[in-house]
This record gives sequence, structure tokens and C-alpha cells, in this order.
Amino acid sequence: MGLLDGKVALITGGARGQGRAHAVTSAREGADVILVDITEPVETAPYRTATADDMAETVELVEKQGRRALAVTGDVRSQADMDSAVERGLAEFGKIDILIANAGIWGLKPFWEMDERTWNEMIDINLSGVYRSARAVVPHMMERQTGSIVITSSVNGLEPGVGYAHYVASKHGVIGLMRNLALELAPYGIRANAICPGAIDTPMTDHQGAYDLFAGHEGGTREDREQGGYSFHALKGCGFLSPQVIADTALYLNSDLAATVTGVAIPVDAGHMLLTGTNPNPVKS
Ligand code: NAD
Repeated sequence: MGLLDGKVALITGGARGQGRAHAVTSAREGADVILVDITEPVETAPYRTATADDMAETVELVEKQGRRALAVTGDVRSQADMDSAVERGLAEFGKIDILIANAGIWGLKPFWEMDERTWNEMIDINLSGVYRSARAVVPHMMERQTGSIVITSSVNGLEPGVGYAHYVASKHGVIGLMRNLALELAPYGIRANAICPGAIDTPMTDHQGAYDLFAGHEGGTREDREQGGYSFHALKGCGFLSPQVIADTALYLNSDLAATVTGVAIPVDAGHMLLTGTNPNPVKS
């Protein structure tokens, strides 16, 4: 018996990274999945977002768990895309029990140098994309008087980070949105919660910009990033974390084990939020 037997989960950004871990974990626990992702690059992201091959691989991994996967090419920047993903999901599976609003991008730029397009694209995907995903699926959940929504925020939904004000603003924003969803949807038996991941080993953190950030200088290497992961977290043995740790937390939140848990933001960060900061570059006068 699985923790999600007979359920259906819609996962945005489901083609790879944490989205793939959510898909395979949900399937392992008995759920069919609807995977929504883009296949075209996002212009302002400093790394390639998912491809059709990534999506095909995730579908295969879900099917290996003995569950069904519906792959939908869709962009969380479009309400029409999200509405159509829900419609197709309902046609295929008859219901949707779970939304994992996971799609997101990340980038680095001091806010005073950032052009408005870069700012807007981040907010459009990471914050408004979550709104659109919830907007698409909630009427169906209200009708059924049940549902679980898990939103992927970040430790940057709880604290700032130098060089990515747009990301920090979007991740704080989704925690506010989650709290309001939880409050407004509680009378309908729908729960909403957020997860705040620490540093997770996915393609989002596996490119030169991320190497430089964790190295603390330009020309950083993947090895610098690995070391940086240990400094980022407090808990013994925790460098960059596996996407599985986030999928495990979502599994708990989406299962009956969390039937009375709503409106919370859970850091899954190996103790990162416990660490007191020091100023790495103090300006003395
Ligand atoms: P990832 O880049 O592997 O996955 C993000 C997915 O979102 C990709 O498949 C991408 O194609 C998809 N996506 C991007 N823009 C989209 C759009 N407009 N429409 C539909 N799909 C879109 O990275 P990840 O680490 O798996 O990221 C998952 C979530 O976790 C994101 O919200 C991210 O901000 C958050 N997060 C990541 C980390 C980390 O260290 N990796 C830490 C905290 C939070």
C-alpha cells in the first residue's frame, strides 16, 4: 500500500530536477501524474531549462513504477496553458487531488543592474506561475471539497540572498500566496503548504553562475560548488542535497499523514536557517 494510492498529482516543472523526483516518488506511492513543463529555453535564465528528452525520461521513470504519466508541454506564464493542462488531466484521469507548484527559474544580477524584463520574467514564472497553476486546478478541487497544494519556495522565501533580489522577492511572494490559499480554501477541505529547500543538486545549480556564487568569485568550479554546499548547510555530511529530500517532504504533505497540516512553510535545508551570518566583505568607512 502506498501513501498516495489512487491519487492524481499535477506537477509543474515536472520534466527534471525536483519535479522528476516528485513525479517518481508520487508514482511509487500509488499516484498517476500530470507533468507540465516547457521545451523552449527561458531567455533570461542563465542555463537551459528542460527539454522534450528530459520529459520523455521522466515519463519512462514514472511508468517503471507501474503508474501512468500524462506529459503536457505548457508554460506557467500562460493561464490558457495551465487551464488546458488541467482539462487534459481531467479527461485522462477524471480528477486531480494534488498540485505540486514546482516550476521555477533562478538567475544572478544585482537589482540595480537588472533590466525590467529579467525582473518581470522571474516574477511571471516563480510567483504568478504558481498563482496561475492554483487558479487552474482549484475550482475542480473546490467542487470535490478536497485537495492538497504544495508550493516550492526556498530558504530565499525566508531570508535574502545577495545578487538575486527578483528570485528572493518571488520566493517570499509564494509563501504569502500559500498562506492566503490555505486560509481561503480551508472551508473547502483544501490544504496548502510550502517547502523551503536549501541547496539542491539539480540543473538549476549546476552551471557557471552557481559555481561562482558558491566559490565567492568568478571562475568557480563544480568542486567549489560541492564544498560550498557543506558550508551552506549545518548538518553533518550535508553538501548539496538530493532532490529526493524535497520529494519526501511533499509526499508527507500530500498524504493523509498531514491531513490537519495547512498554511505552513517547511524548511528542508539541513539546518541552513539556523546558521548565524557574518559579513564576508565588511566596509569599514
Ligand atoms: P530545475 O531547473 O531542474 O527545475 C525547474 C523546472 O521548472 C525545469 O524543468 C524547468 O524547465 C521548469 N520551468 C521553468 N520555467 C518554466 C515555465 N515557464 N513553465 C513551465 N515550467 C518551467 O531546478 P529545480 O532545483 O528542480 O527547481 C525546482 C524548484 O525548486 C524551483 O521552483 C526552484 O526555484 C526551487 N528551488 C531550488 C533550489 C536548488 O538549490 N536547486 C533551492 C530552493 C528552491
